[in-house]
Amino acid sequence: MNQDQIINDRADKIVGKALIAAIDGNKFITSVFPFGKVVIQVSGARISGSPKVAITEAWGKGVAMELFHQRKVVHKQLFPCIYWKGMTKVMRSFAVMFRTWISKHVSHFNGTHRQISCWDPTVKNVCPNCNCADKSTSHINRCSDAGRRAVRSESVKELKKWLEYKQTDPSVTHLICTYLNHHGDKKMLSLLPNRSTYSKYKAAILLHDDLGWTNFLEGCISVMWVELRREDIRVRKLQGNEDSWARGLMRRLLQMTHQQWSYQNATVHLKIDGCTRIEHHRLLEEIDQCLDSDPGVLFVGGDVWGPIRDYCGRTQ
Ligand SMILES: [Zn+2]
Repeated sequence: MNQDQIINDRADKIVGKALIAAIDGNKFITSVFPFGKVVIQVSGARISGSPKVAITEAWGKGVAMELFHQRKVVHKQLFPCIYWKGMTKVMRSFAVMFRTWISKHVSHFNGTHRQISCWDPTVKNVCPNCNCADKSTSHINRCSDAGRRAVRSESVKELKKWLEYKQTDPSVTHLICTYLNHHGDKKMLSLLPNRSTYSKYKAAILLHDDLGWTNFLEGCISVMWVELRREDIRVRKLQGNEDSWARGLMRRLLQMTHQQWSYQNATVHLKIDGCTRIEHHRLLEEIDQCLDSDPGVLFVGGDVWGPIRDYCGRTQ
């Protein structure tokens, strides 16, 4: 650093300390000065940076809040409780196509079987993994298929390692991983051991359950978890900050959801002997029907049906 940069850096540190001391001692004045020629406020907050950016962000937030409320994704009273500041950075950290997928998924516009069945009558509105009827977006993280749950459990193991690496409070690590391993079948509050170590987390857990399983798996963690992490870093004098911890958690949760989507797509599109899984089962059903109507059909005409016998023998 040159001399100017050294002075600037030193001044920033002094100002930072002075600001913290002023907030601690509640000795500060409002930033709205009298006789100001122009004061721009957006959503009740004074704008000190670009008005264009502030207005765009406030408008976007309002539209998203209305959309989520109407679609019963997040109630408008809970919307401000989500750590959106981290979500902006997390989204920017992903590739463009992944961002597009997330936007479509959380807006319920991804091509689920419920939607595809509307324009393609050959597609049944059932989950290709568990055969549950009406496969909506929310089913992506609620599928009870053993394979899908095994994939999530593996991801939870990886998440646990990361949380431990970040020196997350062991109580929080245990709670989050236990919650995820119940695959949305239980509320977090019901998993709370009756121990005093969790008393400081109770409000965050209640808010977490209000936001719900689906939102959590879509990376929407509450601001209370972030505030608790900041306090934990301060008390235990840990390295790093609460923002990077929150973003790391959000990233991993979104990736877990995408893994479920990918697993389901692999089930639908993966080719087995030139057929998708659905085509494969349809073919087996047709062969079964033929056998039911005429058990000798596979043995008529020498070895013409040999390949089909092979197919059945290999795949059933
Ligand atoms: Zn399913």
